[in-house]
Amino acid sequence: MVTKTLAELSLGLKQKTFSSVEITKAYLERIQKFNSKLNTFITVCAETALEEARLADKHLQTGQAEPLTGIPLAYKDIFCTQGIKTSCGSKMLDNFIAPYDATVAEKFKTAGVVLVGKTNMDEFAMGSSNENSYYGPVKNPWDLNVVPGGSSGGSTAAVAARLIAGAIGTDTGGSIRQPAALCGVTGLKPTYGRVSRYGMVAFASSLDQGGPIAQTAEDCALLLQSMAGFDTKDSTSVNTPVPNYSGLLNTSIKGLKIGLPKEFFGEGLNPTIEGHVQNAIKELEKLGAVFKEITLPNTGLSIPVYYVIAPAECSSNLSRYDGVRFGYRAKDPKNLEDLYKQSRTEAFGDEVKRRILIGTYVLSSGYYDAYYLQAQKVRKLISNDYQKAFKEVDIILGPTTPTPAFNLGAKTADPVSMYLCDIYTVSVNLAGLPGLSMPAGFVNNLPIGVQLIGNYFEEARILNVAHQFQKVTDWHKKMPPLGNTL
Ligand code: GLN
Repeated sequence: MVTKTLAELSLGLKQKTFSSVEITKAYLERIQKFNSKLNTFITVCAETALEEARLADKHLQTGQAEPLTGIPLAYKDIFCTQGIKTSCGSKMLDNFIAPYDATVAEKFKTAGVVLVGKTNMDEFAMGSSNENSYYGPVKNPWDLNVVPGGSSGGSTAAVAARLIAGAIGTDTGGSIRQPAALCGVTGLKPTYGRVSRYGMVAFASSLDQGGPIAQTAEDCALLLQSMAGFDTKDSTSVNTPVPNYSGLLNTSIKGLKIGLPKEFFGEGLNPTIEGHVQNAIKELEKLGAVFKEITLPNTGLSIPVYYVIAPAECSSNLSRYDGVRFGYRAKDPKNLEDLYKQSRTEAFGDEVKRRILIGTYVLSSGYYDAYYLQAQKVRKLISNDYQKAFKEVDIILGPTTPTPAFNLGAKTADPVSMYLCDIYTVSVNLAGLPGLSMPAGFVNNLPIGVQLIGNYFEEARILNVAHQFQKVTDWHKKMPPLGNTL
C-alpha cells in the first residue's frame, strides 16, 4: 500500500479497497521505522492524523469525498499549521506554534487531506543540501552518506523512501526541483503568484513559491489543483483561472517545440547526466516533440544576481525575529538592544547569518546602486531572455542539476560551491516561471532529474509533457533499497 501513487490511493479509497485510517497507519508505521535513519520529519502528528483519517473515512462512506479526501500528506515545516509547531528548520522558531493555517494548509484541510507530519528543511529554506537544519541533516534514502538536496530535502526524501506518497515544499531558487532530482521524485515549482504564499514563512518574498512533490507528474497535478488559486490574503497571488490540471494530462505532444538552452549543456555538467538528458530528448522525439537549440545568454549571471536579491530580501524578512514578539528569546539580556542581539546570535545558524550580513550590505546606502539595483536590472535581462526564447519554443528542457547528490559535508566549508548546485534552477525563480523536475536516470546508483520550464501559468503543459514521458519510462517507479525492506 505504501508504494502506491496518490492517484492509486485516491482510487483505492473511492473503491473502498482500503480506508484512510489503514493508509495513515501504514505510513505512520513506516515513518516510525525509518525516520530515525533519514531524519525527514521534524514533527509527526500521529494522533491528529488518525482523527483526520477517521473523519475522512466518514466522508468517503457518505459519498462526500473529493479527490484528496483521506490522502495522507506531509508539509515542509515552513507552512504554518494551526496548533502544530512550525519551526522552519530553525532554533528561532523551535517554540513557535502558529495561531492560523497557511492558505495552502487550509485548502488541503478543506479538501479532506490528512496531515501526517512536518518535514525537515534547511533553516529558513536557505541551502541546497539540508545540512543547515537546526534538527540535523536529512539523509538521502538512496545512500545514507549523501545529501538529499535542499532546502525541501525532508519532503523529497520522505516521498522517495515512501514514508509518504505526496508532500509539499517551497522553491526560492531550486528548493523543490533540486532535491526532487537528487532523490528521484517529481517536483513542481509553479509560476510566481499561482500558489498563495500566505502563511508560508518568508525567505525571499519575490522568489518564494510553494509547490507539490510526489512520485509522478500525475500526482503533482492532483496536488497543484488543490494548492493553486487566487488568495485575497496574498497581494502577489494572481487572479487567473485554475485549469483542470489532471484533465489536461493526456494531450498529444506531437509538434510541441522544445528548446534546449545551450548554456545548460556547457562546462560543469556531469557527462552521465548529459547522456540521460539526451535519452529523455529521444523519448520525447518518439512522441512527436521537436527540439531546437536556443540561447539564454544571461544564465551565467543568475547565481550572482540571486545571491544579491535573495539575501537582500531575507535580511529584511528576518528582521522580524527580534526575541520580542515570537520565537526564541535570549535569557537575561542587559537591555533591549542586547535582547535583539543575543536572541538573533543564539538562534540563527551560520548560513542564515551569512545571508543577513550580505543582504544588509547590498541594501546599505553606499552599495545599493552598485549591487541591489544592478542585480534588479540583470534580473530583468534574465526574464527577457526567457520571453525571447518562448517566442520560438513552447517549453524548455535541460538538466535539473549539474551533478548527482554529493557526500554529506562535502560542500559545507565552501558556500560558493554549494550555491552553484542551483545553476540551472535559479533563473526560473528570477523570471517567475514554472519549472518541473522529473526522474530521468541514475549516476552511480544516485538519481538525477530532467527539468522542464514553461511560460507563465503553463503548469498544465509541463505537467503533461512529464506525464507523457512517465508513461513510456519507469525512472519514477524506482525505489531506494531502503524502501524495499517493508
Ligand atoms: N539553494 C538556494 C538557496 O540556498 C535555493 C533555496 C530555495 O529555493 N529555498 O538560497
